[in-house]
Amino acid sequence: MVEARLAGIWDRPGMNARSQRTHCPICKAPDFSLKFTMERGGQAFRIVSCRDCRFIFVADPEADTANHIDIDKIDWAFRPRHFQIRRMLLAHLSAGQQVLEIGCGRGEVGYLLRSDPVRYVAYEPARGLSDFGIRAGVPIVQRVFNGEQTADAIVIDNVLEHVAEPARMLEIAAASLNPGGLLIVITPNVHDIRAVSPSWRARNLWVPPDHINYFSAPDIDRMFQRVGLKARRFRFSPLSLQDWKFFPRAVAETFGLSIFGHNVYAVKKST
Ligand SMILES: [Zn+2]
Repeated sequence: MVEARLAGIWDRPGMNARSQRTHCPICKAPDFSLKFTMERGGQAFRIVSCRDCRFIFVADPEADTANHIDIDKIDWAFRPRHFQIRRMLLAHLSAGQQVLEIGCGRGEVGYLLRSDPVRYVAYEPARGLSDFGIRAGVPIVQRVFNGEQTADAIVIDNVLEHVAEPARMLEIAAASLNPGGLLIVITPNVHDIRAVSPSWRARNLWVPPDHINYFSAPDIDRMFQRVGLKARRFRFSPLSLQDWKFFPRAVAETFGLSIFGHNVYAVKKST
């Protein structure tokens, strides 16, 4: 799938190196067709669709998709989802159990859990972000997680859309989960509410080089099935009365719709 037209762009000085994906990152099929080309920061990215499973992804992402931002230019970025993740974890876990976060960024979830009776560790190869979290006392291992340890809950929050092998990451997570363990995954939805406005989508959804995978609900379900897990939508499970703003999302998820993104979890069988 190499295109000579783009070959020169990859090696232009001052630009991040580009890589070439040779297979669909979900089903491994080698054939995909060009949907469109997206221009970002002077670079052209090819957005393709797998001919087998229809998964949409960037065929020629930057080789390093981690965000190496400067530690002194960032601050905490707490979002409602971080509080919802914490609530789900504490509802599921017993005292002393292990939480593992893959791709924690600054480590907001770990910071929120700092006084809770669970253990937390995160893996994050993006230096500036993780330096910031470490400085605030969040235990972060500064590399990619490759299944080095097991956990009773694993969090993958807005990471799968950034990585070259999202299905592989989910496979490693599922294998690292103890029986009865909880897996929480949050990722943007290619068919979210922004479909009503093409320019909104262009600004926020089709955003290579950051986002290189664009998941539909069936894509998420299939990735979970591949690793023996059943993806369930959050619905009302992480919400309290103060989260009334999220009730429409929860109602939509009850009907199987993910209007702002995929918020899913799975519990590994106990036996
Ligand atoms: Zn595929």
